[in-house]
Amino acid sequence: MSTDPVSAEIPVCSAKGCRAAAVWVLAWNNPKLHTPERRKTWLACEEHREHLSRFLGVRGFLKDVVTLDEWESPASGDGRGSAADR
Ligand SMILES: [Zn+2]
Repeated sequence: MSTDPVSAEIPVCSAKGCRAAAVWVLAWNNPKLHTPERRKTWLACEEHREHLSRFLGVRGFLKDVVTLDEWESPASGDGRGSAADR
């Protein structure tokens, strides 16, 4: 079953030298390199979320900070609870 080495790995923090499991996803975009809708992502543990988001924030690159769970399963808004739709 586990023939996919990528999905089997636990995502780790993008901070230099940090091996902690990632909890946060920082979505960012460098307007000089990327089209506006493009999103690059960094992963961050609890400890480095602020450090990394500030690094991106001061450059004006940071677009979004969401938990890894949210990022991998974007269930916000629709699909759940169809009562309102019927
Ligand atoms: Zn970290």
